[in-house]
Amino acid sequence: MQFDQIYASRNTRMKASEIRELLKLLDQPDIISFAGGIPDPALFPADEFADAFKNALTPERQAMALQYSVSEGYLPLRDWIVEEMAKIGIACDANNVLITSGSQQALDYLGKLFLSPGDTALVGWPTYLGALAAFNAYEPRYDRLSLKGNRTAESYAEDAADAGSAVKFAYLSPDFANPTGETLDRAGRLRLLELADSLECAVIEDAAYQSLRYDGEVVPPVLALEQERKGSIEDCRTIYCGSFSKTLSPGLRIGWAVAAKPVITQMVLLKQAADLHSSTINQMAVHGVAEARFDVHVAQLHVVYQRRRDVMLAALEEHMPEGVSWTRPEGGMFVWMTLPDRMDGAQLLARSLETERVAFVPGQAFFADGSGQDTIRLSFSNSNHAAIEDGIARLGRLLGSV
Ligand code: PMP
Repeated sequence: MQFDQIYASRNTRMKASEIRELLKLLDQPDIISFAGGIPDPALFPADEFADAFKNALTPERQAMALQYSVSEGYLPLRDWIVEEMAKIGIACDANNVLITSGSQQALDYLGKLFLSPGDTALVGWPTYLGALAAFNAYEPRYDRLSLKGNRTAESYAEDAADAGSAVKFAYLSPDFANPTGETLDRAGRLRLLELADSLECAVIEDAAYQSLRYDGEVVPPVLALEQERKGSIEDCRTIYCGSFSKTLSPGLRIGWAVAAKPVITQMVLLKQAADLHSSTINQMAVHGVAEARFDVHVAQLHVVYQRRRDVMLAALEEHMPEGVSWTRPEGGMFVWMTLPDRMDGAQLLARSLETERVAFVPGQAFFADGSGQDTIRLSFSNSNHAAIEDGIARLGRLLGSV
């Protein structure tokens, strides 16, 4: 059977990447990997989760924990999120919150909600690879979201119109972005909101790393800044996507979206059609752990990840040859490196795996237009200090020799 002859057209842009194939080699024990942007499992609050699951399975709660539940999500968890949102300047109620199976699911739903084939999505060059993967299924046209230059709203609208398209949303991860580690400053966030107002499009604020700030000045979320100007969340065009993956556990797959009620209502319909609801018991467990010690736990993560970032930045300073530049993130898990002229990140990875046994992610996959060959992403979250120092020294040696 030639299945590929009968696949829907949306699948043509969904490809397994060569890089992922290459990164499968990472299981080998002698490789130092800066590739996966994942939390350190040693930092999972495992004992707290053991208690929380036990608690959810007591005779009084087990019928609820193991049963189907509402698509909107477990109400005590939504209430907890409402309080957390208030702390960062977002006033909402539980009806503005949808629990999703990871924030990745929210990105998929938002693609599904807004994008007809050919519609325009504004994304950074580079942007989160998983967002491109989620949106690609809805066959969009991409345009480069640029908040530094002086590109006007009209030029985005005109370019879209020339392509027979319309701009539906701007997607970005404003804090410690994956892959660059960079943070959009307040002025940039305000420009984004002005742009979205002019284009009458939505803004998708991906806050996956927002709780992981190690230093520098806190910048309010885009949604908070919009609310400051417009008053009610019901008048805001920003849809905020949060996640427990980087703070408590990615394996439980619990994230959330916060937005004006009409958007949440639509997303609830999509969730009903897709998976009915996120795991009831996982939501209860996340609520139990979050309520008991979210802040304490996140403070512990800050100490460990900040040191790892500092060790990586110091090692880069020491070992990188002339012509290499990199970002200095104030939080998150990533440093983004630009290689000397015309050097290719994918070729460098192949060589690095062979000779230096160091892994990272070549940057090209993060660019909607396939550019960015001369970039790579390094993650510091899941390596100890010795591995970071050794791995960066090896990478510096390789870069100095090519
Ligand atoms: N957004 C960004 C920027 C990410 O890096 C990730 C995970 N790598 C996600 C969203 C999705 O995370 P999750 O579905 O686990 O919440």
